[in-house]
Amino acid sequence: MLLRHTTDEVKERTALTVNPAKTCQPIGAMYAALGIHNCLPHSHGSQGCCSYHRSTLTRHYKEPVMAASSSFTEGTSVFGGQANMLTAIQTIFGVYNPDVIAIHTTCLSETIGDDLVQIVAKAVGEGKVPEGKHVIHCSTPSYQGSHVTGFASMVKAMVTSFADPQAEKNNKVTLIPGWVEPSDMRELKLLASTMGVEVIMYPDTSDVLDAPHTGKHEFYPKGGATVEEIRASGGSIGCLGLGLSGSTAAVDALKAKCKVPTQLLELPIGLQATDRFIDALRTMADVEVPDPITDDRGRLLDMISDMHQYVAGKRVALFGDPDQLVSLTEFLTLLDMKPVYIVTGTPTPVTGGQVPQFEVRIRKALGGNLPEAKIRSGAQADMYLLHQWIKQETVDVLIGNTYGKYIARDENIPFVRYGFPILDRVGHSYFPSVGYKGAMRLLEKILGVLMDRQDRDAPEERFELVM
Ligand code: SF4
Repeated sequence: MLLRHTTDEVKERTALTVNPAKTCQPIGAMYAALGIHNCLPHSHGSQGCCSYHRSTLTRHYKEPVMAASSSFTEGTSVFGGQANMLTAIQTIFGVYNPDVIAIHTTCLSETIGDDLVQIVAKAVGEGKVPEGKHVIHCSTPSYQGSHVTGFASMVKAMVTSFADPQAEKNNKVTLIPGWVEPSDMRELKLLASTMGVEVIMYPDTSDVLDAPHTGKHEFYPKGGATVEEIRASGGSIGCLGLGLSGSTAAVDALKAKCKVPTQLLELPIGLQATDRFIDALRTMADVEVPDPITDDRGRLLDMISDMHQYVAGKRVALFGDPDQLVSLTEFLTLLDMKPVYIVTGTPTPVTGGQVPQFEVRIRKALGGNLPEAKIRSGAQADMYLLHQWIKQETVDVLIGNTYGKYIARDENIPFVRYGFPILDRVGHSYFPSVGYKGAMRLLEKILGVLMDRQDRDAPEERFELVM
């Protein structure tokens, strides 16, 4: 019993977080930056921060993640990181030759108060940024926000640094995909191309963090959105942003800077959210939905109706990132499952009635069902609280990232790994969970753990070959 000290007595906390359901802002900024072609992320802080962020991404994607660091020492911590940053910019362009250096800050450089706008301007002024090369940056102190807000900040920086207002429209749709897996980004592009829609997508980590094994090391893999593509997004006929937490900042910036018509949707995970995505793309690009997509939808419906008996009524606990949780909740509700506990460590804006936006979105996804569902976001919405709720009344299945395995083991609950990070399994970066096929995979994973449990617990006379 690794978590044997967790009790079922919940006490309201205002300061303490135990086992947070989130991670560091810079991890998100680093992941987003890898979705630019020929880009080297740069961590403005100590080597320890950078190593932790790289290793988390590497463990999740099973790929080497390249990033540079300003390598703060005790002296830098006192006198500021400008000198290190200027040297770093010159060295990185000289040695590693990226098209873009994408700098994010860390707790330390933010606490010192390093002014990145001024430092980058000084680097440009001193000729440390070669012609045709770029330095972009965002602020990601980890004592606020989460990896999701760090991701959102770096995507916004792509817009503010590169997107160009264009007099002539280019007949393309800009897709801001939100924090999804490389496999999901690949699937989103495939869905668009099947519909005959040309898209500009950024960030795009497909072919970066799921690059094929060729026997040859590529420091910069072939994937990622180019600077020219991001620039051209300012002339697109419209922009679809997916996932409110991950994409709102960039979508709003593109609208303000380039007057591109924009639309924000929840991530296309599950049947209804994918329907809305397909319909928005169809309307924006003025195209028809082709048969292969309609057929995939039909296959998902068929699978749902065949397997509904195994999932209906099952109580579910969910934790992870807001955008995934909202769409997942809607999908589980469609399956007649009961998402009773939903937790994210990522804070979301508080709306008029003093309710965090996350709770409003989850209630909407529940569609008036399950008023008793417990929903919590922010610093005290942690794994400890989720475990306490489960101790009070257990669930039939737990869905979340690898950190849920401790609760699943101690409470003997079937566990579906989904979200970020997944450190002890593979598949997430290769098989999408967006779109109709992604929903089939999610349903298959949920069914898999529930049926395994049914097999394990069935008395001999009810141990069925055919289910
Ligand atoms: S919490 Fe702050 S100090 Fe710690 S690894 Fe993240 S950025 Fe670095």
